[in-house]
Amino acid sequence: MILPIVGYGHSILRKKTENITKDYPDIKQLIADMFETMYKASGVGLAAPQINLPISVLVIDTDVFKESYPEGEGWRVAIINPEILEVSEETWAFEEGCLSVPGIHEDVIRPSSIKVRYFDEDFNEHEEVLTGVRARVFQHEYDHLQGKVFVERLSNIKRAFLKRRLKDIEQNKIRTDYKMIK
Ligand code: ZN
Repeated sequence: MILPIVGYGHSILRKKTENITKDYPDIKQLIADMFETMYKASGVGLAAPQINLPISVLVIDTDVFKESYPEGEGWRVAIINPEILEVSEETWAFEEGCLSVPGIHEDVIRPSSIKVRYFDEDFNEHEEVLTGVRARVFQHEYDHLQGKVFVERLSNIKRAFLKRRLKDIEQNKIRTDYKMIK
């Protein structure tokens, strides 16, 4: 089922999410719905707050980046209760966008590689080091679980430039190919 996506300005995008347990009802269906919603909107990641659920669940598929970033190939994952354990000192700037902030794409500087721990949809625990676009998308989605949207990581000057467009998004004046929550 395709779910509507929450837009910038909605209070749930500022809320820190709660971890879930194995008993969370219909988690597999929820994850399937999140993938379907993400693909329909041509996204590479989607976090639960973006579909109006305050829980620590996200989905990622970086395969679309594989031509330029080989590490992105075939990385299609559902991630539950993630933690970032370590971040590299090295950073890189990469242009990000967000289904909750349609029409805005800006360079964001983040650590190049990260060590993470998370559970998959079968609640198997994983601990791994992510680099390149894997690290990038993970950090963007992880931010959503912390109540943070990528535009909040931009400089004050850049945000000032975007103010008008962000306001339009908040007021639902932007048209999208996918359904957004009013
Ligand atoms: Zn996002």
